Order: sequence, then structure tokens, then C-alpha cells
Amino acid sequence: MDMQDIIIRKRDGGVLSPAEIRFFVDGYVREEIPDYQASALLMAIYFQGLDRGETMELTEAMRRSGDTVDLSSVPGIKVDKHSTGGVGDKTTLIVGPIAAACGVPVAKMSGRGLGFTGGTVDKLESIPGLRTTLEPEAFMKQVRETGIALIGQSGHITPADKKLYALRDVTGTVENMSLIASSIMSKKLAAGSDAIVLDVKCGRGAFMKSQEDARRLAQIMVDIGADAGRRTIAIITDMSQPLGDAVGNALEVQEAIHVLRNEGPEDITELSVEIAGAMIYLGGRVRTYEEGAYVARQALVSGAGLEKFRALITAQGGDPLVCDDPSILTVSPSECDVIAQETGYIRQIDAEQIGIASQHSGAGRATKEDSIDPGAGILLHVKVGDHVSKGDVLASVFSSGRKKADAAAEQARKAYIIDKKKPEKPTLIKEIVGK
Ligand code: URA
Repeated sequence: MDMQDIIIRKRDGGVLSPAEIRFFVDGYVREEIPDYQASALLMAIYFQGLDRGETMELTEAMRRSGDTVDLSSVPGIKVDKHSTGGVGDKTTLIVGPIAAACGVPVAKMSGRGLGFTGGTVDKLESIPGLRTTLEPEAFMKQVRETGIALIGQSGHITPADKKLYALRDVTGTVENMSLIASSIMSKKLAAGSDAIVLDVKCGRGAFMKSQEDARRLAQIMVDIGADAGRRTIAIITDMSQPLGDAVGNALEVQEAIHVLRNEGPEDITELSVEIAGAMIYLGGRVRTYEEGAYVARQALVSGAGLEKFRALITAQGGDPLVCDDPSILTVSPSECDVIAQETGYIRQIDAEQIGIASQHSGAGRATKEDSIDPGAGILLHVKVGDHVSKGDVLASVFSSGRKKADAAAEQARKAYIIDKKKPEKPTLIKEIVGK
């Protein structure tokens, strides 16, 4: 097979055969295909697209490129969850325990944060003593015994995606639906669960800016799941403003515990119930999607979700007392407030700007090698649609030093637009694909 022929066929709008896609992925991982030819093919795909069969083949080739997790020793329908990336999105910490409390085994591997979105592993590590690495046997044993384990992604899952994503990042080829969908789903399929709930974000703080694009991406991922024999539901949700009130690591864990005590902000509570409900439905614990949300809410109100979170923390060596007193998590000492410059209604809190400000406070990393400050971040005191008076505190920024806190607060200030007219509150849950 000749890589040049493959590039030319895709450049001219042709359809690649399964063998050609496998030849490309395997050859690129083995470093037999150089970056310049891989880049050319990615650019051809960017412009010409991939059909459903090609997208599935690319996903499968990437899934098979490294280790895959075998969860067959865990009884029951294992359900995974993935978010396309949001600011203040701590739902995994909430929905995992709720779904597990309702009898759905959750064996979840999560990533670290990069850029302006946070990672579940970084958040979990702000709990003193908590381990996020477990050997495969210990991981499986914990899921069997506790019903849930949340750990970092192990070393050798989908190396093809890792290499191709790095190349896409520097060749202007990230923003193609089939490439994004196959990248996400190859990792989800390799992670071994039987069913998957996807939270596809749309809005200013998300990859997909419009609902139409989010719907297209969601449908491609749902199709990949169906073709791979894994039931997949995608929930399209708003990311025009941050989710919940807390952005950062320790701050987000505190908020997750507040939600699990049924004392959290309305938006993150609503979304958590929806996602956990979808997991409970796909996990076969109820007959309808709607019943799933009902059961999820019961587990939240009864405290069963919080007790499962406590069991998870204990099993992974963390201090379970955080569930009783979240304030034992250390929040960084320097605080700088973001003050309203005028009176009116909050029309916009740009999630991306808040994410960047949080990163500047020390809560995020610009490169994979950076370390993070678990206590840094931002607490929002108002959300879109709220009325404020000039001089009110819109948000508080926490950082390790005064200068950093001031700079991050200056950045956060840019996120806000205040208007005289009361705006519509954005609809959080926009639509469900694959129900
Ligand atoms: N997230 C991924 O994992 N892959 C992409 O291509 C884009 C976002």
C-alpha cells in the first residue's frame, strides 16, 4: 500500500478502505509513516470528511493501537461518562457516586486538565492522601467491592490518538467532527465499559460553539457507539457560562460535596441528575430514561450518593472527613474580588475567559509539564440573569500570591457583560441524542 495514493484519494474526495485506514494508523504509530504524510492526510480529511464507515474504522484502529481494559470480571453493565470539556465541570465527581449508589458499576479513567478546562484527576488529588493510580487488578477489585473507582488514564491507552492529536494540534486539523468523534470514542471504547453517556458542551466555552455543530458531533459519536456495540447517549448542554459556582480543584471538590448533600447550585445539580439518570438507564437499572433521572434524584436527596463518594475516597486512601466538612480542603490564601463596574443584569459570563483566569490563578496548566496549585481558582457569586449593583462582588479569585490573584481577577473581569435589560437564562440541557 502506498501512503501517497491514500492521501491523493482522500484529497480528491474518495472513500478510504478499512485496510487503508489501518495501514495509515498502524504505520504512523510504528513511525514508518512520516509526520509530513500524516499531516497531509489529516488536512485532506479535514476538508473532505470521513463517512460513517471510515470514521468507525479510524476509531477502531486507534482503539486497537494500545492496551484495552477488560472489565469482564466486574459483574453488571458498566457505564462510562465523558464530557467534551467545560469550565467548572465537576459532574464526574457527582454522577459517578450517584450511579454507583443506584447499582451501576463505574470503572472510570479520567484525564488531567490542560489549558482552560480542568481534569477530574487533578480535582480528586486535592483530597489529602487520595491515590489516582491503581494497578489493573486493584482497580477491578475496587469496582467489584465498592461499586466505583476513579483513576487517571493508564500509560498505554490509544497511543495512536495521542500521536495524531498532537499532530492535529500543530497542523490546524483539530476541528473536524469525524476526527474529534473518533479521538474521543477510541479512548472510551478502549476503557472497556459497556455503555457510555456523553455530555457534549456547546457555547462560548466549548469546542462546539453552536447547538447544530454539537448535535452533529453527538450523532457521530452515538453512531460510533452503536456500531461498536456500546449503547451511547449524548446530552447536549450549555457551556456559555461556567457550570456551578466553583472553578478550580479543591473548590470544585467542595462544590461536588455540596451537590451530593443536595445543597449545591441549581445548574450543576440539574445536570448531574440528568447524566446520572442516563447512566442508570443505560446500566439497565430502570426501564425508561425519565425513570433514571427520578432514581438519580432520590439517591441525591437520600444521601446515598454522598455515602458512595465517601466509600470511594476511603478506598483510594483519601480523607473521608471531607464529606462531613469540605472546608478542610485547603483553599489558597490570597483573595482578590471581581467588582461590578455598573448596575444591571448579568448578560454574559464568558466561560472561556473564566477558565483562562482560573488557569492564571494557578488552578490549571498551560503545558503538560506544569504543576498546579490545588487550592487556586474562582468562586462565582452571581450567574447570568442575576441583578447586580455597582460595587457588588461578582467573583472571588484565590491564588498563592497577591500578584497572581490580582492578574487572574483582571482576566476574570473581562468575562462579564452587564446590561440594563434582563436577559433570558440560558437553557442548560438542550437536547438528548440517541435516547
Ligand atoms: N478531545 C479529544 O479527546 N479529542 C479531540 O479530538 C478533541 C477533543
